[in-house]
Amino acid sequence: MVGSALFEAMSGDLGGKVEILSEDFDPTAVVVEPVPPVVENGGEMGREEEEKRSKEIVLGRNVHTTCLAVTEPDANDEFTGDKEAYMASVLARYRKTLMERTKHHLGYPYNLDFDYGALSQLQHFSINNLGDPFIESNYGVHSRQFEVGVLDWFARLWEIEKDEYWGYITNCGTEGNLHGILVGREVLPDGILYASQETHYSVFKAARMYRMECVKVATSLSGEIDCADFKAKLLANKDKPAIINVNIGTTVKGAVDDLDLVIETLEECGFTHDRFYIHCDGALFGLMMPFVKRAPKVTFKKPIGSVSVSGHKFVGCPMPCGVQITRMEHINALSRNVEYLASRDATIMGSRNGHAPIFLWYTLNRKGYKGFQKEVQKCLRNAHYLKDRLRDAGISAMLNELSSTVVFERPVDDEFVRRWQLACQGNIAHVVVMPNVTIEKLDYFLDELIEKRNTWFLDKKVQPPCVAADIGSENCLCDLHK
Ligand SMILES: *Cc1c(COP(=O)(O)O)cnc(C)c1O
Repeated sequence: MVGSALFEAMSGDLGGKVEILSEDFDPTAVVVEPVPPVVENGGEMGREEEEKRSKEIVLGRNVHTTCLAVTEPDANDEFTGDKEAYMASVLARYRKTLMERTKHHLGYPYNLDFDYGALSQLQHFSINNLGDPFIESNYGVHSRQFEVGVLDWFARLWEIEKDEYWGYITNCGTEGNLHGILVGREVLPDGILYASQETHYSVFKAARMYRMECVKVATSLSGEIDCADFKAKLLANKDKPAIINVNIGTTVKGAVDDLDLVIETLEECGFTHDRFYIHCDGALFGLMMPFVKRAPKVTFKKPIGSVSVSGHKFVGCPMPCGVQITRMEHINALSRNVEYLASRDATIMGSRNGHAPIFLWYTLNRKGYKGFQKEVQKCLRNAHYLKDRLRDAGISAMLNELSSTVVFERPVDDEFVRRWQLACQGNIAHVVVMPNVTIEKLDYFLDELIEKRNTWFLDKKVQPPCVAADIGSENCLCDLHK
């Protein structure tokens, strides 16, 4: 029997621990204990490391104290009215929390302002774009027509012809980085990955996943890559090709690396175009920069290999998503035809969210180039307002020229940090001014911050932190530097 032969083989693999099935195996028999027992003390692994780290990093609350247990339906299999009412009340309460948490959100670069009501009719469909966006698979419930339309829009934005680019809608900015760096690695298999110190953690994760040699490059206080240090590190590794992650907006300070200077540095160090690959991480500003005057241009007319952006950040989307665009010539190094799909496999994930492309398509149609331009201008204006008011209140703050990320002294009260969902690093925190962040919301936040801050520093025992080492003494208003 094929089945038992298989199990015998398996039991061999597992050192005889699996019982060999007998001939009277009944495939319709019900497992007596359908719900496995609760594991009391799971996850020993990594404890020690976690504890070590948590001394420096303030971690969020343990969700096990507030999680919503799954309760089994009654034994008679009836879905009772009681249960239905219970579930409805849980959801209603959850919805209220979401509204409250949305109102007090400032720290992460998510545009929370959108209306996709027209798309609610699609939630009954399991839309899946598994495989290559440009080659239909045998699974018919897909949204490739929307996906490719969106990709074409981005290809135009970043100036690459329709027949010269390849790309797809990813699950997030991280997936774009994982893909961009993988393409770089496949094109230059023995390449060294260069990334600045202030690069998003997903890039260093890619280096670990792909076991690539990775060289960290220093940054200036503004958060931009330091090309003098980059040059020194390139010259020390001249024998190996270079794969570079360029930040179009760093996560913490919103700094934009000077793409032209990066390319110039590579050329100066003797790297010809076939010996380097540049991935532009535009998760945050990839869709803001094109609309900022004076901003350096991200374009495929320059020798770059790929660009990625997050869809749920500036654009705004109820589910995380992103866009990754690369050159057609590169993607062939990575892809394999898959008979089971009748499509090509060149993406990181297998199944791919087919709803996300429709959401992006919907927003692009509604706002268009002009709409984004207006929103970017509003964000930059409001960011300046926030920075000025912080400074006026005697609070250290910095705002990079091309950015809407306002960096300021970390509030000493973690409860306040949690209430406003501020992202913190060391002595600094930031607010990312997105289209949903209005002057009213900023005033609400500022009034509360200023009021609370007066109580934090009332008895002079606690002083506002010095942030000169993070954002420069000219931006620091601590007792020493003001
Ligand atoms: C947010 C961010 C990412 C990761 O994007 P996700 O969509 O959260 O995966 C990558 N790089 C930068 C610069 C980011 O700000």
